[in-house]
Order: sequence, then C-alpha cells, then structure tokens
Amino acid sequence: MNTTQKRIEETLQMPVFSYVQKAADELGVDAYVIGGFVRDIFLGRPLGHDIDIVTVGSGIALAQKVAELLPGKNQIQVFKTYGTAMIKWKENQLEFVGARKESYSKDSRNPVVENGSLEDDQNRRDFTINALALSLNSEKFGFLLDPFNGIQDLNDGVIRTPLDPDITYSDDPLRMLRAIRFATQLGFTIENNSFQSIAKNNSRIGILSMERIVEELHKILSCSKPSTGFLLLEKAGLLPHILPELIALKGIEEVEGQRHKDNFYHTLEVVDNICSYSENLWLRWAALLHDIGKAPTKKFDKKIGWTFHAHEFVGAKMVYKLFKRLHMPLNEKMKYVQKLVYMSSRPIVIAQDNVTDAAVRRLVFDAGELLDDLLLLCKADITTKNPKRFSRYHKNFELVKQKIEEVETRDHIRNFQPPVSGEEIMRIFALKPCRQVGEIKEAIKEAILEGEIPNEYDAAHAFMLNKAKSMGLTPA
Ligand code: ATP
Ligand code: MG
Repeated sequence: MNTTQKRIEETLQMPVFSYVQKAADELGVDAYVIGGFVRDIFLGRPLGHDIDIVTVGSGIALAQKVAELLPGKNQIQVFKTYGTAMIKWKENQLEFVGARKESYSKDSRNPVVENGSLEDDQNRRDFTINALALSLNSEKFGFLLDPFNGIQDLNDGVIRTPLDPDITYSDDPLRMLRAIRFATQLGFTIENNSFQSIAKNNSRIGILSMERIVEELHKILSCSKPSTGFLLLEKAGLLPHILPELIALKGIEEVEGQRHKDNFYHTLEVVDNICSYSENLWLRWAALLHDIGKAPTKKFDKKIGWTFHAHEFVGAKMVYKLFKRLHMPLNEKMKYVQKLVYMSSRPIVIAQDNVTDAAVRRLVFDAGELLDDLLLLCKADITTKNPKRFSRYHKNFELVKQKIEEVETRDHIRNFQPPVSGEEIMRIFALKPCRQVGEIKEAIKEAILEGEIPNEYDAAHAFMLNKAKSMGLTPA
C-alpha cells in the first residue's frame, strides 16, 4: 500500500467518520467527505479541523442523525435557508450540505440553489483539486470520486476550474482570489486559461465584500512567500482594485541620469524577508505598507536627487485610510502598523550616522514595546543587490542592535517610567495638576534621553529641584 493510500485509510479511521457512515447507511443516503480536507489528505498537508460532508439528500437530516449518534454533548446548528447544518464535536467542525446545483445572477455571488447529484455538486466547486470526494458509505468506504482529474492536477501542481473558467470566476469572483491564494500557499501554478480568465474578469471583484477580500489577503500574507500572491494579483489586474497604494509604488523614474529603486518590488522583497523572521500577521502588514508614503512624496531635487521627504509620516496617515477603506479594524492593530510605518526608517538612519547613545535612547524610548518588531522590519528592509553595501548595512545594523543592548542594560529606557512622578512633583511644590508639572516632567525625561543625567531617582530628584528653581518655584 502506498503512503497516500495509507494516509487516506488512517484519516478515515477517525471516529467521527464511523458515525457519519452509520448515519448515512441508516438513512439510506450517499455521503462523502469533500473539498479542502480531502485535498490536504492527498497533499500530505496538516489536516485542519473543518470537515465538509456532502450528501445526496438532505444535509440537515444527515446532520441531525449524526448528532443523535455521536456520544456526549455536541452542538448542532441548523441553517434552514441554506439547507446546511454544522456540528461541533471535540475539536472538529463538521459542515453538512445536500448535493446541489447552483445558478448565479450578475450582481451577486449568492446563487439560486436546487437539489442535485454529487456530480452537480462537484461542478459548483472552485477548483478540480477542491472537488475530490471520498465516499463514506459502508459498501464503498474510502472510494475516491474525481470526475475532473483533480489528482492529476494535484500531482502537477495546477489550479484549474472544473467548468469553463469564465463561468466559474464570473459567477463568484471570490474564486479569483482563492486561486491566487492557493497558488501562493501550495506553490501551484494557475493554469493558463484560468489565469487569462481572471485577468479578463478582474473588475468583477467589485461585488465582493471588503471582509472577504481582506480574509484572502490575510491568508496570502500568512504564506511563507507572499510575494508570489501579490505578483499574481498585480499581473491579473486585481491589485489596483484592492491596494492601489502599492501599485503607485511601481516603476522607476529617471531624471538627469538618476534613478530611484522600484518600490513595489522592493516592498515585496521586504515582505518575504519579514516572513522568515516572524509569523506576526500585523508585522507582515507593516512590511507591506512601510513605503506607501513614497508615492505621494516623491520629488526630484537637482542637488540631492530623488527624495521622499516625510514619507513615513504620510505613510502612517495613509495606513488609517487604507484600513478604513478595507473595513479592517481601526484598533490597536492599526495603531501598531501605523507606528511601525512611521518609525520604519529610524534604526537605519541611526545606523548610517555615528551611532550616539542619545539617538539610541530616543529610538528605544519612542519605539517602546514595538522595538523588537521595528528592528526586524528594518533588517528585512535591507534588499540592496550590491554585496558590499549589503554587508555594510547589516554590519551597521548589528552595531545599532548592540548599542541598544548596552543602553538598555544601563538606562532601562524601554517602557520608560519617569523616576520622579507627577504626584511627587505636585506634593513637593504644593501644586495642583498644571502645565508646570508637565514641563518639569518633560525636562527630566529629556535630560535622561540626552544623557545629561542617568535614569535614576537621586539624579532626577536633584535635576527637578534645579529646574523648578529656574522656573521660580520653591519646595513647599
Ligand atoms: P482552506 O480551508 O485551507 O482555506 P478549503 O479549500 O478547505 O481551504 P474552504 O473555504 O474551507 O476552503 O471551503 C471548503 C470547500 O468548499 C472548498 O474546498 C471548495 O470545494 C468549496 N468552496 C469554498 N469556497 C468556494 C467558492 N467560493 N466557490 C466554489 N467552491 C468553494
Ligand atoms: Mg477548509
């Protein structure tokens, strides 16, 4: 028995399938496990907890029978309007649906549905590799139904639609994004006709909700090499509909023999780099957006060449608008991305200068909890193809990191708490909360960051007395 066969048998031995088998046999209906779960068995990928079951009959009736048979407590949810039901059992989520035929209208991705055969149901699936079904009934348990040669496509690494791609994609344009996402996740190629059809139908993406688009973007960004997906989105003409800010970074201009780099391709390299350093989705978003301010700030100056003055500031503002447009959360995740974009050049700027302690302390103070992620982003940002420069940048960068460590052990600037508190200042000078208290606190913080005094209570206390005196205040 080959390894795939073994894997199929082992997987189908999961207790949950014996209950579905029993229920289907008792009801006298055909039942199959279908879709991504089956695909991943064949691919040898880790199996998720979502299991899709299709039956030629009522999905709800089968689910109810399964729920009866399953031992212990289990929750069943019935969605009458969709003719589907869902059971949560142990860590698994079982989705039941009756085999169906779908027909679509132009302005909606929600089809009109009627009962159909298994083949009808496989026809409505997005890709041949997602249409594989394994029988669960006793007499043909584990038998594979693969009417579109999905196994061949799995072996060849090809994404192909079961029907004419023009129909599949224009019926439900989410499939265009799914094709690109699977190509990125699995390292597959989108079959040429299919890709042409995506490009032809790209404006259909307009009928998708932002939430569904973002879900796919998250999945692409969670891959080990997201550039694959973004390049496909660009090539298919989908990216301008989703992230025009990235498209605006594309291209190289030359004035008086001076060229700037193509910030679109640079950005994609930075994203791939960050993926080998961190799994953090929002850090990956920050990498994707770190240079978006460069398009609106680009200028050519006869003396200094190309400049992108204040692009970090402009970029951070654009992050808010972009999140809002895509209906992404406007919460601390957005602020995190914004702050990283805003600070994205800081460590590198320091690395290019003489690295002073004061500059390092300021960086550590301003970055706060985001310091480690900011440093990863900056390391990922080094994409020069010039080997000499590459090693110089990395060396400088290591120097900055080393400096940060020194300053941190000595001065404890990260998550800075002022050694003399506002309450204490008010008590000593018998002040109510007022501008002067803030001014003294700020002066202490500045003195510490500039290295005039150490980050310690006694020094800060003495400094405070002096400062207050210069402001005409005396202790009460
Ligand atoms: P993953 O769960 O890894 O994202 P999946 O293929 O399991 O991938 P799901 O969204 O869980 O994706 O969908 C389960 C199955 O339902 C798919 O394998 C496919 O057969 C079908 N399917 C999902 N979305 C669509 C769609 N938009 N059009 C057609 N079929 C779809
Ligand atoms: Mg799934």
